[in-house]
Amino acid sequence: MAKDINDVIIIGGGIAAHTAALYSARASFNPLVISAIEPDQLSLTTEVENYPGFPKGILGPELVKNAKEQAKRFGAKYIEGYVDSFKKSKDYFEVGAEKKKFKARAVIIATGASARRLNIPGEDKYFGRGVSTCAICDAALMRGKEVIVIGGGDSAMEETLALYKFANKVTIIHRGDTFKASKIMQDRVLKLKDKVNIILDSIVTEVLGEQFVTGVKVKNIKTNKESVIKCNGMFLAIGHIPNTKMFEKVIKLDKIGYIITDKRSRTNLDGVYAAGDCQDPIFRQAVTSAGTGCQAAIEAERYIEHLKATGKYK
Ligand code: NAP
Repeated sequence: MAKDINDVIIIGGGIAAHTAALYSARASFNPLVISAIEPDQLSLTTEVENYPGFPKGILGPELVKNAKEQAKRFGAKYIEGYVDSFKKSKDYFEVGAEKKKFKARAVIIATGASARRLNIPGEDKYFGRGVSTCAICDAALMRGKEVIVIGGGDSAMEETLALYKFANKVTIIHRGDTFKASKIMQDRVLKLKDKVNIILDSIVTEVLGEQFVTGVKVKNIKTNKESVIKCNGMFLAIGHIPNTKMFEKVIKLDKIGYIITDKRSRTNLDGVYAAGDCQDPIFRQAVTSAGTGCQAAIEAERYIEHLKATGKYK
């Protein structure tokens, strides 16, 4: 048995990775977790009110930190680093990070997805102070306030529906002249004429604020006319980018870049599993990420036991 081969390497630093690490560590596989320095999505959220077990809610960064501590308690080892290569060899997988190579019999990919950003002035400055990429997380903070949602897809419709329950006014700003969202989602939003306003053919060019967001600059791309809309929140719903580029040569991805998994979190490669947002274009919730992290770890455990049982554990 080669001593330099880890049983399980987990790539990622969010709730899916920590849950996979917890399960894998409890099963005595001493997982090695390689996490990027950049914060995961949950760590960018404030209050998490929909994670079961916390009746008073919990702060996103605290939830992630607790999950990591819990995994460490059972022996998971963590190193910081960007994974930039991934290769399959005969008896193991090779993961490259920070100019080092790590070997593993099984790999769990939980690299997450990053919300697409506009990259306009004020967006970073007011992120978490009115600028958000998650209405489900932050809508309740907008009670009685005026907000804008950017995008024309299903996510924009979903964010609008979530915000409608709390905000006084929701303005959707879309760069096109028609929405790309499914008809059923559009119909749900278009019914809400009392509080929902729609601005088409327009882009936001700057976020304005003092301590928090106070408004946005908007430009009509057909007339070039500029205006300022007062608001307390700006919700981006312009798609996500799964962090999977480094796997594209060996792991099957869908056309957007999400890792394709089966119901058991298995990828196209035996011994490689994926969990959390890097494989989930639909739910993208903390609890579903934790769930798939758990699934992936259990499957990895079964895979390694199978290697042992069939004499293939090198
Ligand atoms: P999406 O379908 O890719 O839509 C992104 C929207 O953002 C598009 O309207 C796009 O405009 C706009 N956009 C992209 N980049 C932009 C930029 N730089 N500036 C301004 N606007 C920009 O993404 P999504 O809505 O997140 O949906 C992703 C997938 O998840 C879809 O398959 C969707 O059906 C699914 N989903 C389903 C549900 C549901 O059924 N409940 C909910 C959420 C998501 P253009 O239209 O001009 O390209």
